[in-house]
This record gives sequence, C-alpha cells and structure tokens, in this order.
Amino acid sequence: MCLGVYLHRFILQCSPLSLAPGARPATIGRMTDKYKAAAEAREAALCEPCRGIQRNWRRAPGHAELVQTQNWKEERGGKPVTITRWRCDRCASTWDYENDKNNQQAGWSLPSR
Ligand SMILES: [Zn+2]
Repeated sequence: MCLGVYLHRFILQCSPLSLAPGARPATIGRMTDKYKAAAEAREAALCEPCRGIQRNWRRAPGHAELVQTQNWKEERGGKPVTITRWRCDRCASTWDYENDKNNQQAGWSLPSR
C-alpha cells in the first residue's frame, strides 16, 4: 500500500513531457491549462480554516478539522522524510504535510489529486 502510494506520487511528479513523450507544444499548453484549472478548482473548494493554513513553511499548524488519512516516506536529498496526508472534515479537501527538518520551505501543500 505504501509503495503503491509512493509510485503513484512519483508518476504525478513527472513532468508533462515525460507523461506524453509525443506531445506537441499545443497539447502541452492545453495540459498546463488543465492543471491550472484543477489547481484553481482545489483553491476554490477550500473552507475558511483551510484558507488560513500557511503553506510551504515547516511546522506551520493545520486546523482542528483535519483528519490524518495516510503517511509515507519519500527521499529528499538522499534522506527519507515523512509525508502525512490529511482530509478536511469541513470541505473534504486533501492536504499533504511534508516533515523535512532540513527544509524550512517544506510543509503544507495541496496535492494534485
Ligand atoms: Zn477545509
């Protein structure tokens, strides 16, 4: 299960180019628009407490209605860091929290799924 999640995330992190090797620039443009629209939809769905979460900052707090659903490890500069996934009880948004003590800019983010 953990490995499956890890692989899935790995695939998600590949660039659009590697996902679509034969893609032409126009296709990439449309894909970028699609990602952008999806990102905007995620933002629009956020409830008030979720909007208040400070992102990409180590040890920034979440909020009381977040419920942890999963955790796994990923490599950052050759070192394993733990990522926890949370679901908001109020707006059903999914959040990831990356706990990397070597990176002050790791923290809360909205994953692309
Ligand atoms: Zn929320």
